[in-house]
Order: sequence, then structure tokens, then C-alpha cells
Amino acid sequence: MPTPEADRVPGHRPARFAVLDPATGEAFDDAPDQQPEELDEVVARARQAWRGWRADHAARTTALRAAADAVEAAGDELARLLTREQGKPLTESHAEIARTAARLRYFADLSPRTRRIDDGRPVHSEVRWLPVGPVAAIVPWNFPLQLAAAKFAPALAAGNTVVLKPSPYTPLATRLLGSVLAAVLPEHVLTVVTGREPLGARLVAHPGIRHVTFTGSVPTGRAVAEGAAASLARVTLELGGNDAAVLLDDVDVDRIADRLFWAAFRNCGQVCMAVKRVYVPARRHAEVVEALAQRAKAVPVGSGLDPHTRIGPVNNALQLARVEQVTRQALAAGARAAAGGHRLDGAGYFFAPTILTDVPSDSPVVTEEQFGPVLPVLPYRNLDEALDAANGTGFGLGGSVWGSDLDRAEAVAERLECGTAWINHHAELSLAQPFAGVKDSGVGVAGGPWGLYGNLRPFVVHRPREEET
Ligand code: NAD
Repeated sequence: MPTPEADRVPGHRPARFAVLDPATGEAFDDAPDQQPEELDEVVARARQAWRGWRADHAARTTALRAAADAVEAAGDELARLLTREQGKPLTESHAEIARTAARLRYFADLSPRTRRIDDGRPVHSEVRWLPVGPVAAIVPWNFPLQLAAAKFAPALAAGNTVVLKPSPYTPLATRLLGSVLAAVLPEHVLTVVTGREPLGARLVAHPGIRHVTFTGSVPTGRAVAEGAAASLARVTLELGGNDAAVLLDDVDVDRIADRLFWAAFRNCGQVCMAVKRVYVPARRHAEVVEALAQRAKAVPVGSGLDPHTRIGPVNNALQLARVEQVTRQALAAGARAAAGGHRLDGAGYFFAPTILTDVPSDSPVVTEEQFGPVLPVLPYRNLDEALDAANGTGFGLGGSVWGSDLDRAEAVAERLECGTAWINHHAELSLAQPFAGVKDSGVGVAGGPWGLYGNLRPFVVHRPREEET
């Protein structure tokens, strides 16, 4: 692997930190533990590179298309590394890489629209859109590449340069991605920095950064907003979720059970907009619990490198402890595990896919984000009660309604307080759609043209009409 730019900051020989394989719990490699002082140099170079990058839209389009091709060409190597450090099955790593390339291609072809304002005054007013300046992109460990691309693709397409910081749990695939892209992008247009805190905090507050785009948990999101306030940089925050799936009484369980199960358990449940709670009419409850429990008991769990694996390990020991804690709390409060409910024996951070029933509604596994392979299934007696519960947390990322009468399901979905609602699906996203959580789940809009404009600022030019000069 060529040495990424960030390692070559003169005068610095970064210390390194270990990267663990969650399937074994053992270190298999390490990454540079860059220090906050290095950011001055990194951001200064990003600012310098911005001059050339912002100037030529056609060159950017060509470079971003080449970047998509380069990601695909490195797909096998990237996928293996991603699975090794993140834990997800190889097929899911390949899907993540395909999505990363697709994102680059989508934004390569997108450009902002200049708009004339015609309001009867004797001037031509024109609204143009200009890049904001160097962007800091900070991402979590659940989809390191896909989430990074969701930030750097629109930022680069808009004409900004980017400093990207992955989670210390998953720095390696991002570093490899950085070197793959460095081969096709101009120097310092995209820089990957790796290291432990306070690297992220210092990047956010760096005076040379003009937009901080962050994906992660709600508490860190609040800290990021506070940090960016120092330089009044723009912030886009994509934060946690606690999405509810509300099943209606006409739901066809056989038909939807697989889709519902995977909406909760894909990526070992570590998805911001996974289904994290299921609300079911009381008379259909046992049937739904049984359908989900059957699948949870049968699904192959193991190392992501094993081609039979459908669910890998939890990514890290801290997250595993959290998943275990919320499950134990629920069980201690009277819940029953219809499947799983415990860690798996042996090395690695494996937790049995778990379906919980009889869960008290104030249990943390219901009110908070479990972010792991555990799903509470809660009965309801009337729909208003279910919607109050679905809307009754501080989160508002996504939600879904499942039933056979689609018009009725859609009418119910309109009552969900969230950014995206699905009928008989969950977490299917188009590259062209806006992505924005409400309440604690986010600030600002990513995705589609809205994501591009999130990296631009309006610049207005007034000039007199010819006859007025
Ligand atoms: P996290 O908030 O702990 O960390 C996210 C990133 O922020 C990491 O790179 C981390 O190193 C960095 N960081 C930590 N402290 C920081 C600070 N003070 N300033 C700046 N950066 C800092 O989140 P996580 O545990 O890595 O990821 C899981 C969370 O991410 C879950 O809450 C999940 O719902 C959320 N998430 C949200 C979305 C979305 O699009 N809304 C997508 C994926 C994950």
C-alpha cells in the first residue's frame, strides 16, 4: 500500500495504535496515531489545494468518475480489509464498496444551478453557488467507506477539499481508500488522518475548516456542534436513530418477515436506521415473534471472512458490553428472549441474534439505541398508542409501517416523526434523495442535490441592465 499523504507531514513520525479484528478480539495491524498539532499542516495543504480544485468543474467531473473506477478496481482488497477491521460479511463489504463508487459517480455529474432573480427592479440579479472551503468529514465505524463517501463525494463535487477522519476502530480500509483516490485526484484534495481523540475534536475546531460534516452518536454530535462554534463553521450532523417498525393488523407476516428481520439485523444491527423496535397488534404478536425468532436462531453467525456467514461480530468490546448490558437490563425487568439473549462462547465479539418479548416499555433497549443484534417486539392494543410510542423518543431518523393495504399504511406512515418513512421496507435509500433526521437525529441535509448544496454557499451578483448604465 503506498504511504498516504497524511503520514508524510514533515517532521512527524507518528506513533501507531493497534487495530483489532472483532472476529478474534486480537490486533492484526496498526495505524498512525496522528497528533492534533499535525492538523495545521494538513489543513493548510487542503486550503492550498482548494484554489486549483474549485476552479475547474469539468476537471472535477472527470476526476470523480476516475475515482469511482479506481474504487471498483480496488474492490477486493478494500472489501477484505473492511471485513477484517469492521467484522461485516464480505458480501456486505462488497456492497458497501459498490455504494461508495456509485456515490462518487452520482455526484460527479451533479452541478448547482445558477438562478436569475427577476423581480421588476432595473438590475440583473444572479445567484451563483460557490464552494465553502476545506471540509472536515468525521465518520463512525459501522459503514466506514460508504459514510465517508456520502461526505466527501458531494463536498469534492462542490469544489471543496476534504480532511477525512475515520473512527479509530476502522482506520485501515479508509487509509487504503485514501491512497486509491490519491492516485486519481490532485494532491491534498482529499487527506485521510487517523488517530485517537482529541484528533477529531481539534479538527472540528480548526479555524481553517469551513464545514464540519459528522456522522456518529448524539452525544458526540453535540460536542461537535460546540467545537465548530469556535470558528462558526457550518455543521451537518447525521446522528443516532431508534427507528420503529409499526406493523398493522392486515400485515402478511410470511411475506414481510425476511425483509423485517434483515432491516433489524443487517450489519449485525449496527445501522443508524436499522429497525430498532417493532410494534405489533396484540393479536398478531405471537406470530411475529415466532417468525423473527425462527430466523434469528437459524441465521449463520461467524467471521465475516467465512462465505457462509450472514451476521458477523459486534465491532468492538465497548459496543458488545453495551449490547449485553441493555439485554440484561431488559431480561432482569421481566423480558423473555424468544431467541438469543447472550454472548456467544469463544473468542471475538459475538452476540447471539436476539428477539426480546414482554419487554417493559421504559427499558433502555426500547428507549435508547441498542446498535447491535437485539430486537424488542412490543404488542399494542390501538394504533394511536403505537404511534405515540414510536414517536415517543428523542430520536427521529426513520420509521416504517407494514401492512397489506398500502394506502392505509401510507396514511399511518405520514404520522411518523422522522426524516424518511417506508412502507413494507426499511432503510432502502436512493442516492438522489435528501437524508435528514429530525429531533436529536440530525441537523442539516445530506444526500442528492441537497447534499451538494450543503457544501456550497450562495453568492449573489447584481448588475444594472444595459440601458441603466
Ligand atoms: P461516535 O459518536 O462515538 O464516533 C463517531 C466519530 O466521531 C468517530 O470517528 C470518533 O472517533 C469521532 N469522535 C469522537 N469524539 C469526538 C469529538 N469530541 N469530536 C469530534 N469527533 C469525535 O459514534 P460511533 O460509536 O463511532 O458510531 C455509532 C453511532 O453513529 C450510532 O449512534 C449511530 O446511530 C450513529 N450513526 C448515524 C448515522 C446517520 O447517518 N444518522 C449513520 C451511521 C451511524
